Amino acid sequence: MARSLTILGATGSVGLATLDLVGAAGPDSYAITALTAHSRARELAELSLRFRPKFTAIADARQADVLEDALAGSGLRWGAGPQAVLEAASMQADWTMAAIVGAAGLAPTLEAVKRGGMVALANKEALVCAGELFIEHARKSGAVILPVDSEHNAIFQALGGVDATRVRRIILTASGGPFRLASLDVMAAATVRDAVAHPVWSMGAKISVDSATMMNKGLEVIEACHLFALSPEKVDVIVHPESIVHGLVEHVDGGLIAQMGMPDMRTPIAHALAWPHRVETSVSRLDLPALGRLTFEAPDPERFPALGLARAAFTAGGANPVILNAANEVAVDAFLNGHVGFLDIAAIVAESLERGEGIARGPLTDFDAVYAADAAARDLAGAFVRARARRGAGIAKGA
Ligand code: NDP
Ligand code: MG
Repeated sequence: MARSLTILGATGSVGLATLDLVGAAGPDSYAITALTAHSRARELAELSLRFRPKFTAIADARQADVLEDALAGSGLRWGAGPQAVLEAASMQADWTMAAIVGAAGLAPTLEAVKRGGMVALANKEALVCAGELFIEHARKSGAVILPVDSEHNAIFQALGGVDATRVRRIILTASGGPFRLASLDVMAAATVRDAVAHPVWSMGAKISVDSATMMNKGLEVIEACHLFALSPEKVDVIVHPESIVHGLVEHVDGGLIAQMGMPDMRTPIAHALAWPHRVETSVSRLDLPALGRLTFEAPDPERFPALGLARAAFTAGGANPVILNAANEVAVDAFLNGHVGFLDIAAIVAESLERGEGIARGPLTDFDAVYAADAAARDLAGAFVRARARRGAGIAKGA
């Protein structure tokens, strides 16, 4: 029987990679229940005409006309607005890909987790902001969370069913991003084009900037702590520019198990898509002799303070990871729009964590508390962005 799939964030980098695998496997293997996007209505309609989901949802209601025109005469059911995305997420499906970028992915991912079934989780912000709540809902509904982020998928594979709390540590690899060897002066003057030019991975704009600041790895440390029930001291980060080893598990006897593969998201996505089985992909195979050597180095905390900020926010707990994530989203958006400089991103996050006096820092007992902290942190970070943009008159320098 074909596995039924819903893809939240179908038009994005992860969503399209998922549909690439689905298209290659054919309709006997997978049937699409729902596809969603934010505003790229034409692209979404093209995907729907090809994959014929039971329901298509566009979050931005202003795009309803475009979607309606593009799907006219197709007989496909569709909806517009955030509620339509929630409806898509709540429809019965065996497997859901949660690949909406940012905190916007929280509510739809929660719907999928509450419904049960398999939830392939690419949206790392969901676990960063509300890890305990997601894990608790998954326990209640019986949902199986399958990590899609390449490092976490690697750890999941390298654990081979061993309880992560019984290992000595896990190690997440980081490519180091486009500024791995850059001086602080070069980083201060970095343009958007420099920052999104990832040396290895091809990804959406937001996560590409996160890789350049290494906030991506900070978010991933938090993600790993939730997924594998680990304390942050047991989650190490190592820079590995070739991005061939995606994650390692160090056992108590000194043995290290590494998961390797080409830096192509289709491999971890395929692992989650077929889980607990395996499926063929057209991903290029590793040519070890051609590769010759793999290199590793420690991350530089001076040039990449985001990593330390993320660890500190997770250790402080409560709303701190929500503030970290929201301030980062606001600052990255401001950077992408030319309002602040590259080094301002981590500085705005640090400022928001230090100065978020009005934001409740206690334990987040429900999603309303998460959304409230997220909204307050966005306001706060927005004010810091405006102050820096005024001081820097456009691209601000320094941090
Ligand atoms: P993209 O920016 O390429 O795609 C994001 C998707 O989410 C698009 O379909 C977009 O729709 C949709 N979307 C954006 N905002 C909203 C909203 N407010 N409501 C509903 N839908 C929305 O992102 P990526 O595919 O790169 O990343 C997706 C997630 O996966 C992120 O959380 C990222 O951190 C994570 N991830 C990504 C990896 C990668 O290799 N790309 C690797 C590991 C994790 P539209 O196209 O219409 O804007
Ligand atoms: Mg990753």
